Amino acid sequence: MEVTPHAVSRLRARRSARSTTSFMARGGPRGERCAGCRLRPSHCLCALRPTQVTQAGVCLLLADTEPLKPSNTGWLVADVVADTFAFSWARTEVDPDLLTLLADPQWQPFIVFPGEYVAAERVLHSVEPAGPELDGVALKRPLFVLLDATWSEARKMFRKSPYLDQFPVLSLHPERVSRYRLRRSTRDDHFCTAEVAAMCLELSGDLQAAQTLEAYLDLFTHHYLQAKQQLPPNIDSPACQRWRALSTHLPAS
Ligand SMILES: [Zn+2]
Repeated sequence: MEVTPHAVSRLRARRSARSTTSFMARGGPRGERCAGCRLRPSHCLCALRPTQVTQAGVCLLLADTEPLKPSNTGWLVADVVADTFAFSWARTEVDPDLLTLLADPQWQPFIVFPGEYVAAERVLHSVEPAGPELDGVALKRPLFVLLDATWSEARKMFRKSPYLDQFPVLSLHPERVSRYRLRRSTRDDHFCTAEVAAMCLELSGDLQAAQTLEAYLDLFTHHYLQAKQQLPPNIDSPACQRWRALSTHLPAS
């Protein structure tokens, strides 16, 4: 199935064009993946891509090789949130389009990062749910800036991006342990990018998109792991059941 490439897939295409070693090249024909969802064609989820219109937007800053990883979950954020923007991060240069986006008066950027690493006066723990206006003044839409990277890369990106310094930092206090099993992390409070985005959407009042993203992440994880073991998707798995229950309430796309 053909789906329109979103911001992360376009970034991936540009990044793999200048890649000498491909993350995708492993395994020959058995490693063949769908260009729309990166899963094996037998496990393709493209027909289900649940794109939604949200009040908030998401701006992903991806570490250099992140777009090439088949398990990158920023991709799933772009599947769900129509206003997802994606940029490659580099220490020595900034994409002018990123600076234009951050300066766009329709958006209020929030840098999503743990508050313990930031001066207290810059840290917020919630955002005003976005509405059309307050006292006749149009409210800015929240733009959640997520560093899509390993934890050590994310710390470096945060420190070495002076153009982010002027924006408030949104620090999430998740109480759940990560359900994400594709990649191990040395910190169990280091959530994957799709989980962080879902928590942000919950804060901005985009509840349906938040639930959709969580359920879609679980569904993707299930398909990914089943394909890895050369098993078909299990329609009785919790992920598939949850997806069926949720998708009957989604607007047709
Ligand atoms: Zn697909």
